[in-house]
Amino acid sequence: MTARLLDGRALAARIEQDVRAEVDTFAAMCGRAPRLVVVLVGDLAASGSYVKSKAAAAARVGIDSEVLRVPETCQTPDLVALVAAIARDEHGPADGILVQLPLPAHIDQVAVLDAVPPDRDVDGFHPQNAGLLSQGRPRFIPCTAAGVQRMLIDAGIPTAGRHAVVVGRSDIVGKPLALLLSARPPSGATADAAGCDATVTICHSRSADLAAITRQADILVAAVGRAGLITEEMVKPGAAVIDVGINRVQGRLVGDVAFAEVSRVAGWISPVPGGVGPLTVAMLLSNTLLAAELRLGRP
Ligand code: NDP
Repeated sequence: MTARLLDGRALAARIEQDVRAEVDTFAAMCGRAPRLVVVLVGDLAASGSYVKSKAAAAARVGIDSEVLRVPETCQTPDLVALVAAIARDEHGPADGILVQLPLPAHIDQVAVLDAVPPDRDVDGFHPQNAGLLSQGRPRFIPCTAAGVQRMLIDAGIPTAGRHAVVVGRSDIVGKPLALLLSARPPSGATADAAGCDATVTICHSRSADLAAITRQADILVAAVGRAGLITEEMVKPGAAVIDVGINRVQGRLVGDVAFAEVSRVAGWISPVPGGVGPLTVAMLLSNTLLAAELRLGRP
């Protein structure tokens, strides 16, 4: 068997088209485009390149964006004060506010992320948004988790009653994804069309016999950050394998899944690059539009 490729770039381009149309409607109504303000601390090359691709995607769909650069030597109170100033629109209208992670080790990341007002929190990291998601009434869903769910829905991969194994339990990816996939469908939607009603197992670095668990997965998501962690023997034949990991190996970007060998056994597989990454950016655009609409009083 050769797995079908889950093309994140093509799906992201379709999502961008939809967002673009709604952005145009918003701009016609409000006389200005939705606007995203990004805080970038320090000069980590990877963070700089992620921010660049977010700004480029925003421009493609007509969302204004601004990147505020802060030196690595800044302190937690400076960053909290900056986020508060952005929230008061002192740097122009800020419908969406995003603090690019990771922050330097000396910064209290929780304090900075908590300073982002929950109704502008387009990354979906604020405890209020995490709480809403856990109660099954999401507002801003963390972009990568939303992107993975969208990828499954778009490919017609059934989730209802299926066993999804999520490897990784971070607040950013693993945990929100597990909540999304195990949620009840919204009223009026079928579970498969909404990408939910799955039975979910979350694995992490202390899980015993990881392979025995992953082999049970109809849907296997790797969100770890270890190149080649998921090998052929760890995958059930025909499973959908979604690779969230981003690792740099000898200058090349690779995921957590040993792509060539797992492609022989999986039913579907997402590549790195060109899989979940572009969807993360597309969902950020969608969240920024939602933030702008919420400010307008969208119910
Ligand atoms: P974290 O480091 O926060 O979490 C990694 C998780 O993997 C932890 O729960 C950890 O367990 C678990 N883990 C580590 N080693 C193992 C192991 N050997 N077996 C099983 N589980 C293990 O990372 P993130 O969630 O932020 O990111 C995960 C990956 O996804 C990274 O490569 C990151 O770059 C990538 N990423 C990609 C995005 C995209 O758009 N494509 C967006 C965001 C992230 P424990 O909790 O016990 O430590």
